[in-house]
Amino acid sequence: MKMPALFIGHGSPMNVIQDNSYTQHLKKLGKELSLPKAILVVSAHWMTNGTLVSASAMPETIYDFYGFPGELYNITYPCKGSPETATEISSLKEIGIDKNYGLDHASWAVLKHMYPEANIPVLEMSIDMNKPFQYHFDLGKKLGFLRDEGVLIIGSGNLVHNLRIIDFDDNALPMNWAIEADETIKKVLTEKDFNKLLNPFPLASSIKLAIPTPDHYIPMLYIAGMMQENEQIKFTHESIQNGSVSMRSFMIK
Ligand code: ZN
Repeated sequence: MKMPALFIGHGSPMNVIQDNSYTQHLKKLGKELSLPKAILVVSAHWMTNGTLVSASAMPETIYDFYGFPGELYNITYPCKGSPETATEISSLKEIGIDKNYGLDHASWAVLKHMYPEANIPVLEMSIDMNKPFQYHFDLGKKLGFLRDEGVLIIGSGNLVHNLRIIDFDDNALPMNWAIEADETIKKVLTEKDFNKLLNPFPLASSIKLAIPTPDHYIPMLYIAGMMQENEQIKFTHESIQNGSVSMRSFMIK
């Protein structure tokens, strides 16, 4: 059975220990989806030269954030890796293998809610920061075959992500420009206007604030790229945390 594919806005690592509408949505998704054979996460937090896929048999939990409460650094996500899936993916000539990389918080902070038992093998794919948006969109298309084999593909980033003007208050109100940018990208996704998705900056001045660096936007392009003609986008969650981070998440199926 063909698996849906997900884009998940992951936001602050604090979500891993919080109970809010966003984390509740992740728990619900994990229960609703049919059990995947493996999970491939395209991570906003693994930026490399060239595209890599992780092939560790027992991926370690990576704490790739600083200055957060000690509690976060004691959380582990002891799932298995899937070296077989990594090998299969690396048959695409542009993808290399990294035998050591574990799971950064773009994976485990999300999966801890979706699959708390850590009973599904997980592997990650890096983002080649030298490549244009089109490359990532096209590579997403090429990875689509994995869905037919029962692999759940998750792009983990944020559509609106500005840490320079973030408000760390958990109750911070969304900034106006963040709402505008989030709504603009939502509309483009709904209309499946992929040209606009690949050239978002002229759409509104707020988009420059929403995407100050491309790392958190790019994972979404993989999921949009693998969308089939007959598939639809279903938004599974929308909220803006810390004033400037959109947690908007969606499923294609
Ligand atoms: Zn992040």
